[in-house]
Amino acid sequence: MKCMFCGFTESKVLDSRPTDEGNSIRRRRECLKCGKRFTTYEMIETVPILVVKNDGTRQQFDASKIKSGVVKSCEKRPVAMHDIDALVNTLEKQISNSLVQEISSRKIGEMVMKLLKDLDQIAYIRFASVYRQFRDVTELADFIKDEKMNQKD
Ligand SMILES: [Zn+2]
Repeated sequence: MKCMFCGFTESKVLDSRPTDEGNSIRRRRECLKCGKRFTTYEMIETVPILVVKNDGTRQQFDASKIKSGVVKSCEKRPVAMHDIDALVNTLEKQISNSLVQEISSRKIGEMVMKLLKDLDQIAYIRFASVYRQFRDVTELADFIKDEKMNQKD
């Protein structure tokens, strides 16, 4: 938490106490650089994120579904389970940091693809082929070709 006086990022907590029925915690902090004091409030993010599917229906974001999709894409690939867990954690963080209440399944798919691309190329293409719902093999081939061309850049 940045000091509101000097912008320094480290502070020590002098006092923590719950406020309004325990829904948040008030912390009195002292900046380690300038020594000034300020107050921060910490609260639990309880707003669920809804995923908007292609047909407009919505359901609550479920990380385990994403995980199983990624696991499937990584079948027989040299990708460890902890890498997959890390990917899903990163995704969850990215989504919650974007502070949206609704996100399209398409957008989530793109975020997963971006993360998978760094992890394993084959898993990435497998995931992409399912996610983008290619109509036929030619479309998939075009996509792979495009990807190869992009890599030359
Ligand atoms: Zn300060």
